[in-house]
Amino acid sequence: MRIKAIHEKTVQLQGNIANAVVDFSKHTVSLVAVVSDQVRNGKVVAGLAFNSIGRFAQGGIMRERMIPRLMEADPASLLDPTGSRFDPDIVSATVMRDEKPGGHGDRAGAAAALELAVWDLNAKLVDEPAYQHIAKAFAQTPITQGAPVYAAGGYYYAGESNQRLADELKSYLVLGYQAFKIKIGGASLAEDMGRIETAIKVAGNSSAVAVDANGRFNLPTALAYGKEIAPYNLRWYEEPGDPLDFDLLAELGGQYQGSMATGENLFSAADTQNLMRYARLRPDQDILQMDPGLSYGLSEYQEILKLTADAGFTRSQCVPHGGHLINLHIVTALGLGGCEAYPGVFNPFGGYSAQCRVQDGRVFPSDAPGFGLEQKTELAPHIKNLLGA
Ligand code: MG
Repeated sequence: MRIKAIHEKTVQLQGNIANAVVDFSKHTVSLVAVVSDQVRNGKVVAGLAFNSIGRFAQGGIMRERMIPRLMEADPASLLDPTGSRFDPDIVSATVMRDEKPGGHGDRAGAAAALELAVWDLNAKLVDEPAYQHIAKAFAQTPITQGAPVYAAGGYYYAGESNQRLADELKSYLVLGYQAFKIKIGGASLAEDMGRIETAIKVAGNSSAVAVDANGRFNLPTALAYGKEIAPYNLRWYEEPGDPLDFDLLAELGGQYQGSMATGENLFSAADTQNLMRYARLRPDQDILQMDPGLSYGLSEYQEILKLTADAGFTRSQCVPHGGHLINLHIVTALGLGGCEAYPGVFNPFGGYSAQCRVQDGRVFPSDAPGFGLEQKTELAPHIKNLLGA
């Protein structure tokens, strides 16, 4: 068994939305196909994945460094001892050959897309949904009652009103979501408090509303927001300051009694170790959002989970960033705390396929083989194009 070809393509994200820091209208994602020489059900088996959302396509790193390393490797060296599946750990080590440690930036997403495509490929080789395949690989019992899911949205729109925000969040209730996350920090504190109150009113419960500052605040502003929102006991207060300012998190956590969330902009086990060492997060309440698709894939994410467990966090505190099919399968497989979803935002990658079910605040993956990316109608034409079909 061998890899016959690897394709990658830059796909534009849809949606003219902005958080406190980033305008997503020019964002891109790398869609990847690892094509095997195997045939199942009359079709060549190809593993598909992408590098999550929010860090741009990484085609250059893949084309110039990582794909040649995989294609030059002895095909047998990429397989596990049974020879019946590709070994994701070895694939990761192969794409990272000759890379120096540290500096976990864009290459972490490039490596992740390739490694996750191998997980999709392995699951398809045995005709299993990825959540079942991943659960078996890591000796976990997958979630069967649906993973908790919240709708992420509440971005800033030009000329918007609180009524527009209320209408957006009400539309998520209709879709089966019961919890929301909205952006803060892109308007004044007073305006943001109006947005938060609007969200609480729609949710009917302040503990169903999380807020995300996307790393915008310095310590005084983070504390000022913390003081204002503390009485609401919100679901969580996400990325108040720079993602690498662990001291800010420690200071804020010393004063803000509610839950904080962070980690979507840490891309490695080494970064996670520093977060555990220096941010003084509270294992019984704070939320960890490291995203396998941004941090070298599932092999590295296992290391990340081990570090967080060693620091006292349970898997229920791990809620990966990136509301899409890949993380739905990973969360379900590994029994993590939940998923986010971006209904109607970040297409063609964000959100789930019609075959996935969202009900009473929980999400259920479909039983398509692999991550089921082919079932997502917005993504299907890009996959066809990538595979040259
Ligand atoms: Mg965030």
